[in-house]
Amino acid sequence: MVLVITGKDKGKKGKVRVTHPKDRMILVEGVNFIKKHSRAKKQARQAGIIDLEAPVRVANVMLLCAKCNQPTRIGFTSLDDGKKVRICRTCQEVID
Ligand SMILES: [Zn+2]
Repeated sequence: MVLVITGKDKGKKGKVRVTHPKDRMILVEGVNFIKKHSRAKKQARQAGIIDLEAPVRVANVMLLCAKCNQPTRIGFTSLDDGKKVRICRTCQEVID
């Protein structure tokens, strides 16, 4: 889960659907809808405009910690066995 911190969807929360690490973009469920014209059939009475989710910049969202339910920054720590893990900076819980 992430929280949008800037832009028109500021304050919205959503599940991350797809990540594009190369582009530093992510697709978040229910966030950043864009209108797109679809080629409707002749018989269709509905206007040919549909809402589609568009990717948002990673920098525009914050991770929402599942443990403490707060928007948080990610920290890193090493476990006893030397494995590096991501942690929530707010509650220090490990994020998988
Ligand atoms: Zn937390």
